[in-house]
Amino acid sequence: MIVSMRRLLLVLFVELAGGSLAGCGTPPARPEDGGVLDMTLDPPRLVHASGTVGDDGLSGTIDFDVPDGTRGISIEIVGGAHTLYALGSLRTAGGNDLVTLPAGGTIKQILESSFFDDRAAILPGPMYQVVRLGTFTTLYPQSPDQAVPSGRLSLRVAASDSVSGVQVTVRMPADDGAGVVHLNLFTVSELAAAPPIDAALASLRAIYAQAGIEVVVDGMQTLTGSGFSSPTETFSYLPAPDSDLCALAQLGRMRAPTDGIDAFIVDSFAVPGVRGESLGLPGAPDPGSYYDGIFVGRDDDPFVLGRSLAHELGHELALQHVENIGMSGTVYPDPLADTMIGQANLMEPTGGSLLTAGQTYALRRSAFLRTK
Ligand SMILES: [Zn+2]
Repeated sequence: MIVSMRRLLLVLFVELAGGSLAGCGTPPARPEDGGVLDMTLDPPRLVHASGTVGDDGLSGTIDFDVPDGTRGISIEIVGGAHTLYALGSLRTAGGNDLVTLPAGGTIKQILESSFFDDRAAILPGPMYQVVRLGTFTTLYPQSPDQAVPSGRLSLRVAASDSVSGVQVTVRMPADDGAGVVHLNLFTVSELAAAPPIDAALASLRAIYAQAGIEVVVDGMQTLTGSGFSSPTETFSYLPAPDSDLCALAQLGRMRAPTDGIDAFIVDSFAVPGVRGESLGLPGAPDPGSYYDGIFVGRDDDPFVLGRSLAHELGHELALQHVENIGMSGTVYPDPLADTMIGQANLMEPTGGSLLTAGQTYALRRSAFLRTK
């Protein structure tokens, strides 16, 4: 999310709006023509498993093998929409836990405190992971000083409730030099004038050229009368499956021509000062997910609009804010050694568009990237 710090502290105090979960947990059908992209991975680079989380907040172990020549490991955990999820552990063959949950309290307490009290929803530990409602996603490695683990990995799901039927998907695309990301662009508007999309896309592409990533737009369309041109999201907490953003993401998915990332330009957000939001932190290449989408507010300045798109795309692919501050006052730097506040970085709340070598490394691990 892009928002001023003053605004962040303000909006984080807003209470979560109520709402029904009806309709948001069921993925829409994929486009009939399947689009121009092949998003599918075949085993052993694609692993599906399910698990049950017990009263201790942890699932049993789910084992999988990392194929040689893997670019990165994208893990998606999907369960009930009212439950918080994270990784409980991710152990290498050598027994090293890449996650290591914090001590002090039950897993339910740890997850709920992080999400509802601190609200940054970032768990301390060697892996930077963001607690989410309903669907949790992460990507590893997160920085150049982490290598892709080899051999067998064992993960456990952490959840705030005991639940069965939790679905785990692990995507391990090949390290094939992929450097193309595809977008489907939607202008969600009730205004007569169009935003400066072409010039904004030029800014977006220039920013990603720093990382050697090409941005391809598969389609552009305008949605009118959707009821979502000014989403009512309060940003009190990270977006939930019943949010307007989730509903808009699914509306866009049904209309998207390909499996590219759906990007929405809305007229405004209900909360002043908010410029954008990504449902993935980072996301996973699962076009059926209610968390598939990035959103920015309209701006007449094409650089600002392009920069907002680039910032949210950064979240969706791999990147975190250079620094986040929770309601507790805890400061959470991103996992990278070469980023710092005040250097006009793309992942600072406002301003810059620079990407570091570390951010480039993280972005190039993304399972969203294609070879063409
Ligand atoms: Zn952000």
